[in-house]
Amino acid sequence: LSEKLSFSLRNISDQGRITEVNIKDTLREVRMALLEADVALPVIQEFISRVKESALSQKVNKSLTPGQEFIKIIRWELINTMGGQNDTLNLAAPPPVVVLIVGQQGVGKTTSVVKLGKYLGERQRKKILVVSTDVYRPSAINQLETLTKNINIDFFPSEIVQKPLNIVHLALTYAKQHFYDVLLVDTAGRLHTNNFMMNEIINIHIAIKPVETIFVVDAMTGQDAAKVAKSFNSMLPLTGIILTKVDGTSRCGAALSISYITGKPIKFLGVGEKIDALEPFYPDRLANRILGMGDTLSLIEQIERNVDYTQAQKLTKKIKQGNSFDLTDFLHQMKQIRKIGGITGMMNQLPGINKLPDSVKLQMQNDKLLVHMEAIIYSMTAQERVNPEIIKGSRKRRIAAGSGMQVQDVNRMLKQFTEMQRIMNKIQKDGIMRSLKKIIP
Ligand code: GDP
Ligand code: MG
Repeated sequence: LSEKLSFSLRNISDQGRITEVNIKDTLREVRMALLEADVALPVIQEFISRVKESALSQKVNKSLTPGQEFIKIIRWELINTMGGQNDTLNLAAPPPVVVLIVGQQGVGKTTSVVKLGKYLGERQRKKILVVSTDVYRPSAINQLETLTKNINIDFFPSEIVQKPLNIVHLALTYAKQHFYDVLLVDTAGRLHTNNFMMNEIINIHIAIKPVETIFVVDAMTGQDAAKVAKSFNSMLPLTGIILTKVDGTSRCGAALSISYITGKPIKFLGVGEKIDALEPFYPDRLANRILGMGDTLSLIEQIERNVDYTQAQKLTKKIKQGNSFDLTDFLHQMKQIRKIGGITGMMNQLPGINKLPDSVKLQMQNDKLLVHMEAIIYSMTAQERVNPEIIKGSRKRRIAAGSGMQVQDVNRMLKQFTEMQRIMNKIQKDGIMRSLKKIIP
């Protein structure tokens, strides 16, 4: 997707503003991307029309190209559909806070209970009790007990001959008496079409009044997941969702469908079989993943925050006046780029940055090289900085000695400078700001 998307976005950029005609291709790409990510069709249609409406009514921010502005809108709508921001468990209620975990068979409920217990215990220093009400699968209770063995959460024993309703009563009483902060209740897998099982969970819900009722769903089940979540929600008031096995699929569109269809926030992602593999859900990260664009937008924001405008403008002006790009400019330039690259640490994932020569990318990521470069350039005379061609054998040795570097370091730096100069000649009309924005659509 990202290749195509950036291509059609570039088309918008060339047009100067957002119009119904120039976003048509991009919208088609977005639709394809969402289909590929396995987002349900009605969700896609509604989403596209919302993006369109908001794009056409938007004033384009001066500092962004229309293409960038459009990405921003798409991304914003995606994030909003998924609940806007990270939504964690509500633990503000009087303890013990009861968290009921529900869902179909094999989706990762038991694993998630233990992951959550560990997460809350370690990160939020909560005293955690877990209990299983899965009396239908012979080894289910045992599985929970085994998983809690080496971590710092307590297991409340239950037996398959007991009634689930009984088990939760006992566990809740015990949790109250022993001052637990959180009681996590694991339940048997059930189908929303099974009346007996759905009645059971409804009764458990009434009996223990959970603060959180979390629906666990396997990301790999894609669109079905959304439908199942919806029918669960119609019988049981869900408060949130844990999307599991996100590690096994690139089709993360289920998240979008589920939050859209149920209107419930995804609170956590299961990202592996290990007990540590639980992450709070961040809608913005998933939006980026669905759009396949790395962290383009936050990079744009960082460029805007960090690049020294005055410096960049001076340089642009200088180049426009026909003065050549010299080593002092080079140093400034590298420092600017370094500021951006250093913060994101994600430069290589960016579509545009990838096209820069390796040596330049290296500079962006390497602090030490920059310090060396600076030392070398400061050891030069003013004349040498403006006219690097005159730097030959004896000058090189002097500069190397002066900066505490080797002659080969001086050579390498000069070579990089020549490369940068070449790039600068290409982009000189626009200056660094707009050029960076161009290569990052
Ligand atoms: P339950 O029937 O809903 O309680 O599901 P389990 O917790 O027993 O998990 C079923 C299987 O899915 C187990 O093999 C788990 O290790 C696996 N599993 C659970 N969560 C994840 C996850 O986030 N990623 C991966 N790769 N596997 C998971
Ligand atoms: Mg289980």
